[in-house]
Amino acid sequence: MQMPTEGRDWNEVREEMVARSGKDVDWRSGRTAVYVFNAGEDIHHVQKEAYALFMAENGLGPLAFPSLAQMEKDVIAMALGLLHGPQGATGAITSGGTDSITMAMKTARDFARESGRQQTGHNIVLPRSAHLAFDKAAHLMDIAVRRVPLKTDGSFEADPAAMAAAVDEATIMMVGSAPNFPHGIIDPIAALGEVAAEKKVWLHVDACVGGYFAPFARMNGVAVPAFDFAVPAVHSMSADLHKYGYCAKGASTVLFRSEDLYKHMPFNYRDWSGAPMKTPTLAGTRPGGAISAAWAVMNVLGVSGYREKQGLVCATREKIEAGVKALGFEVLGRPLLGLMAFRHPEADTLALYGAMRARGWFTSFTAEPQSLHLMLSPKHAEVADDYLRDLAAALADVRAGVTSEKVEARYS
Ligand SMILES: *Cc1c(COP(=O)(O)O)cnc(C)c1O
Repeated sequence: MQMPTEGRDWNEVREEMVARSGKDVDWRSGRTAVYVFNAGEDIHHVQKEAYALFMAENGLGPLAFPSLAQMEKDVIAMALGLLHGPQGATGAITSGGTDSITMAMKTARDFARESGRQQTGHNIVLPRSAHLAFDKAAHLMDIAVRRVPLKTDGSFEADPAAMAAAVDEATIMMVGSAPNFPHGIIDPIAALGEVAAEKKVWLHVDACVGGYFAPFARMNGVAVPAFDFAVPAVHSMSADLHKYGYCAKGASTVLFRSEDLYKHMPFNYRDWSGAPMKTPTLAGTRPGGAISAAWAVMNVLGVSGYREKQGLVCATREKIEAGVKALGFEVLGRPLLGLMAFRHPEADTLALYGAMRARGWFTSFTAEPQSLHLMLSPKHAEVADDYLRDLAAALADVRAGVTSEKVEARYS
């Protein structure tokens, strides 16, 4: 496309945009279980209006926009209230989980340097199942990544003893997930905490996809093990507002046990021609809308709203678990929240995946071991029966030797 010489009519441009979205996955119908968290029309409306209210404003300027500064403080306080943040705990809103993880690693590295630990040649120790955002951040910062195999007991949990063996003087961070993305399993954070305390290493809990889910699941009676700042060795956490916080995209939280840890995060610089600038996260300009939409959704839902939505997601996951087991699938480990992975002993996963895609289901899959993957939203309560019916048909196709290509050709 070349820029039009004369500007075009907005209504015409808008229509073209809507037409283009016609080729996208139809997430509104609930047949997408990755990328989008569909909490319903009412929450979508709140996101939109609250975003638009502060869309022009910039979180880079807390003095100019005390409104945004206070909303950010409120969001962080609400987060810490849910995640057992002790007195003095603090944090910041970032653009997403990758940003939160990157900033937590940078903070841990600078903390290690200031604490007189080794100055260079650092490494982080993380389970095989931890998110690749850690590798990306490590790549940026020239930090080595030591990925440690999971327990071999079928739990798909991090192995604290094996991780302990991988830690050395140059380790600036250990990681546990709550839950991990590939299997939806919460790592044994308390046991990782014991290792971290003994080795005197920073423990980060990646609760990007569970931070705004697990506290409410627990309130609903799910036996969620200790995973947050209730574990004393946990130094920092990442928790995404734009996942199960049901906030507009571009919003996550990075949280620290104390101001003393947090203070290594902001970048405070004055040695250039411009005005001195202090930025807490990776971003310079920070979209006001992402902050205001997060604040609004949290206030509109409240504890009762989140409990209801997460209860619906858990009930849907239980229903799908039972349904896929009845079809002969094996569910990996014991998922407690909104993610699950499952595989069939007699059917190729990618063939099944193709057969489900052909039936209009856009989901993710897990590579180790190859399995189908679902990240469920409240909306999925309405389509769980359809999913299971289509999965049964897809399984029959695959068992009859209809390959994913053939299935794709037949249904597209
Ligand atoms: C989504 C996710 C991330 C990364 O978050 P983005 O917002 O996509 O950058 C990190 N860790 C886990 C466990 C996640 O689910």
